[in-house]
Amino acid sequence: MAVVAHQTIIDIQTELKAGSTTAAQIVSGFLQKVEANRHLNVFLEVFADDALAQAKRVDEKVKNGEPLGKLFGAVIAIKDNICYKQHKVSAGSKILEGFTSLYNSTVVERLLAEDAIIIGRTNCDEFAMGSSNENSAYGNVLNAQDNSRVPGGSSGGSAVAVQAGLCHASLGSDTGGSIRQPASFCGIVGLKPTYGRISRWGLIAYASSFDQIGPFTHSIEDAALITEVISGKDSYDSTSSSKEVPAYTQQLNFDRKARIAVFPSTLNSDGLNEEVKTATQNLLDELKADGHTVEEVKFELLDYLIATYYVLTTAEASSNLARFDGVHYGYRSPNASEMETVYKKSRTEGFGKEVKNRIMLGTFVLSSGYYDAYYSRAQKVRRILTNEILSILNQYDFILMPTSPTVAFKFGEKTENPVEMYLADIYTVLANLTGIPAISLPLAEDKQGLPIGIQLLAGKFEEAKLFAFSEKLMQIASVKKDTLTTPAE
Ligand code: GLN
Repeated sequence: MAVVAHQTIIDIQTELKAGSTTAAQIVSGFLQKVEANRHLNVFLEVFADDALAQAKRVDEKVKNGEPLGKLFGAVIAIKDNICYKQHKVSAGSKILEGFTSLYNSTVVERLLAEDAIIIGRTNCDEFAMGSSNENSAYGNVLNAQDNSRVPGGSSGGSAVAVQAGLCHASLGSDTGGSIRQPASFCGIVGLKPTYGRISRWGLIAYASSFDQIGPFTHSIEDAALITEVISGKDSYDSTSSSKEVPAYTQQLNFDRKARIAVFPSTLNSDGLNEEVKTATQNLLDELKADGHTVEEVKFELLDYLIATYYVLTTAEASSNLARFDGVHYGYRSPNASEMETVYKKSRTEGFGKEVKNRIMLGTFVLSSGYYDAYYSRAQKVRRILTNEILSILNQYDFILMPTSPTVAFKFGEKTENPVEMYLADIYTVLANLTGIPAISLPLAEDKQGLPIGIQLLAGKFEEAKLFAFSEKLMQIASVKKDTLTTPAE
């Protein structure tokens, strides 16, 4: 694939300050590119007028020498499950078709307060349930590198928006991998922050004890910058942490040797593609050669992750999605005549197949008689898992593993078999089950040039360390690429 140099937020801010471009020009450029890439089906709606108006405000501030926000000039797309006042939001579902948000999510408030420009809302799997973006009521998003392949899910639109250069960065949500897996499939950076680091106020809930918002970017510095802006305590979300938010962008220098844990069970797992395995092993060898400690640590719970995740998230989803009843929000069946048929028909017609599967599964695991066998047991496994992972992370700085067992797969490849689709999440759900932060880094490619993401996990609230070491890994990878592509003299 031709390597396209993408401008980072930091680059663009330097240019804006120097007066060599304007925010209005940047936004117009992106709008043209969005238009030229309609076939990718990335945006459900482009907020062209608002984005241009916001760009003009930024240009005025630059011209008048007024104080500028940390994200001035940054053009950001948001996943279609993040509320933006007076703008539509549908969570990729027919049941919310035509619904307009009455308020801003906290992340949107914080982006706008720092002079970011929001360009549009991106397509995603319905209610963020999926690993391939094949579950959206508004059609598939195509991977920009190979249109016959999925972009990953559920935040596929947000990933491709960045991959295809339709904005500087975007926000997604990650309940079980929905930021990291599409980042891996699209060759970009994606972060799932610590549970509680970022307010969930105004994020349409899927599984509330798992959901976190996070950024997609081309560079670590941009990911650090956006995370710095959107993190922190919020009185509207009681699960948001009051822990101070470090200046991540000022701490990107990792100047010591790291202690890295590797789980043999992850590298020997059945569905792992050979090239992804080799790429991970090569990176581990390079890290060892560079003096870092890389140690194998026994982790025998891998086989329990997917089952635990799908029992708990479907249980939470069945409760969260009860509010979509044909009365409060969005779609109401025109065929309904009295109360019961309003509920039944609106939900039957408004929800897609995967969402219905999960509501039924979640209702089942919560039902009396099965609650103890499934829901309570899964809660116990979650506790055991968390204790084990936190104790490993007391002894090691990071855990390293692939983000996904495969590169981007073809459309239709896994749709017939939901279990196979769920298994694609084997490496990502761990961070959500245990609440720790994890990042996917575009560090390798397979023989066809398809991106391979490597995942780095750290202890709770250790985003600063995660960014700093990621920066180091990205530098190693870019030096390697240069030496591979520079012809010998
Ligand atoms: N693929 C996972 C699921 O379908 C993760 C989704 C997500 O992180 N929102 O649940």
